[in-house]
Amino acid sequence: MHAPASLRRHFLWLLLGVVAVFASGIALSIWFSLRAGGQEQQRFLRLEAVQTRAGVVRLLEHYRLVLDKAAHDPELVRLMRAGTAEERRAWAVSRQRLLPDVLDIALLDSRGRVLADALPPDARPRSRQIARRPTASTAVRPVLRREKNEPGHFDLAAQVRAPGGGDLGGVRLSVQLAAFQRVIDDSIRPGHTLVIRDAAGDIVVGRAEIAGRSGAVRQAIPDSDWTLVARSPLQFFSLGGQQQVLAGLATLGLVLLLLAASLFRVRRAMLNDIVSTRDALTALAHDDPVPSIMPHYVEFEAAAQDINQIALHLQEQRSRLERLSLTDPLTGLPNRRAFETRFPQAQGLAERQHPVALILLDIDHFKEVNDRHGHGVGDQVLLALAQSLKDLTRRADLAARLAGDEFVVLLSDLDADGVGAWYQRLADRFRSELSLFGLDLHTGLSAGQTWLGGRAGDSIDNALMRADHALYEAKAQGRGRLIQHVEQHGDSAG
Ligand code: GH3
Ligand code: MG
Repeated sequence: MHAPASLRRHFLWLLLGVVAVFASGIALSIWFSLRAGGQEQQRFLRLEAVQTRAGVVRLLEHYRLVLDKAAHDPELVRLMRAGTAEERRAWAVSRQRLLPDVLDIALLDSRGRVLADALPPDARPRSRQIARRPTASTAVRPVLRREKNEPGHFDLAAQVRAPGGGDLGGVRLSVQLAAFQRVIDDSIRPGHTLVIRDAAGDIVVGRAEIAGRSGAVRQAIPDSDWTLVARSPLQFFSLGGQQQVLAGLATLGLVLLLLAASLFRVRRAMLNDIVSTRDALTALAHDDPVPSIMPHYVEFEAAAQDINQIALHLQEQRSRLERLSLTDPLTGLPNRRAFETRFPQAQGLAERQHPVALILLDIDHFKEVNDRHGHGVGDQVLLALAQSLKDLTRRADLAARLAGDEFVVLLSDLDADGVGAWYQRLADRFRSELSLFGLDLHTGLSAGQTWLGGRAGDSIDNALMRADHALYEAKAQGRGRLIQHVEQHGDSAG
């Protein structure tokens, strides 16, 4: 058999689906904004690196220019040709003093050995003793020097030539790296790192780089083996992204709340409608008044109206059947079942000291009427008696056809004389009804009467039996009369 689906589970799946759709929507929009944010970050980083590199290149160019100017200084050319060591040193010291950030100026011979130095011998670092031929190129490559116990610096060296073109040696500029650190410090953005590395990967200028996930932009510095590296931390969630997530979650929460509340309401309303339908059907089954179904939703109205109509129809059908089952089809009088149904009420009345008479009636020589005039006339006679009974019984009384030509009447609140008078009126009425037929009908009405409730444990059978005895007596005494049952010894035993 097909198992019914659960409404609750249905709704739960629906809610889960909404959550899934929302979660994927939020994830997608975060991914898009992250991608856009990452590209933006990279663009800013590149701009930062390019600007910084321009500053570094400018500074480097400045020192190259200074060096070039020094190498072409006629005074230096003269000193290199014919100056004394002291004169050469004085020249170096005077130039070095004019140039901030220049650590040292040295004059070299054509093989790179130091001829004179701005710094006193004891202040000269060991590195400065290493011979290196000064290059003739105008694009002087900086040489990094960062030995122990001396400030970080780099050397630029240029050839000094005689006016005729002869090699006179060279001049060497040692520039402190602090100047470049200042360029970097001026352009760096908060949270970012900028470093210059040489070909070996060692840091020339700059502080430690960001560890972990970061975006990097590299820019080679021309005429050197230096590279500028700019880094910024990869921010997984920008502030905008966080707000986006929060807004998404808040919307999801609201949607879920709204959906859950409305689903709960729908479920409750539907259950209410089903329960009220069940109540209506139960009432119908128990023959109670059927409450009409008022559905919560307009969509159920048509079905509810149909059910209401069906219930009404069934109720009408049931009461019609009941009426039929309690009515004699020929005369329209209540039948034996109706009499049996009504009897306890009359019995109750009798027990409350109201006299209730039970009268059995039987048409005299009815068989003969049938035989002589036909069944149709017989039926007309039965109808004539029924009409007489209807006319002469009050609403509180009951007249029923038991079977054939036998009728029963329950009369309340009449004494024996009253019952006798009532019988006479009935017999007269019956006779006058029959006279309208214009036929010679030798018939009449015999009746046997008893009182209800006079004895304990009186039953319908006992009462009918007593009335039947009286009726038998009426027939025996010549018919056309009412005989009241006479209390005899042993009758009470039934
Ligand atoms: P008595 O005076 O002793 O009562 O004699 P009776 O001829 O009336 O005898 P009884 O009461 O026993 O007869 C009843 C008859 O009623 C028998 C039956 O043919 C007839 N009968 C029963 N039901 C109907 C009916 O619905 N229509 C007609 N026309 N006759 C019926
Ligand atoms: Mg009869």
